[in-house]
Amino acid sequence: MKNLLEVVNLQTAFKTDESEVVSVDDVSFALKPGETIGIVGESGCGKSVQAQILDMMKKLREETGTAIMLITHDLGVIAEMADKVIVMYAGQVVEEADVYTLFESSKHPYTQGLMTSIPHIDYEANERLVSIAGNVPSLKRMPKGYRFQTRCSYVTDRCLKEQPPMFLSGKDHWSRCWLNEADQKVTTG
Ligand code: SF4
Repeated sequence: MKNLLEVVNLQTAFKTDESEVVSVDDVSFALKPGETIGIVGESGCGKSVQAQILDMMKKLREETGTAIMLITHDLGVIAEMADKVIVMYAGQVVEEADVYTLFESSKHPYTQGLMTSIPHIDYEANERLVSIAGNVPSLKRMPKGYRFQTRCSYVTDRCLKEQPPMFLSGKDHWSRCWLNEADQKVTTG
């Protein structure tokens, strides 16, 4: 079937006072007739409007049986909408799993950092959310070795030199981290 839309090697970055932040690096995708792609904005874009749009998309999915690809940083949207999740860091896939596995037993420190940054209902008043230290590296100045090494609490000497492949840790659960090498069953580049 012919693609309606084809995006190849999309790259984009924006400047901050300190550096250039890469938001997308080398992303390619195609859209066939009957498929839908949704790009969901960060908080502050209007939650009630977002809820209406997500409801609309759910109805569309049920009525047409179409697949929907959502691109978002909002973990609430992911939990509500997704069956399968692909987590990207600095434009690279770092973890891939079904939504239940990802939320219950993520294997990559970046995904784990995202999970700990979600507010929980049982948080104490004044308790601070955990955040991932540092910033996403500049596209022009990627760190040596693995691109997440400057922000990872588990970093080792190996991470400073070598980028890990994706390791398979369970049914369709992939992660790009040397810590999961023992789980390795299959690797890809
Ligand atoms: S490979 Fe190293 S730097 Fe990358 S996530 Fe794993 S421990 Fe952290």
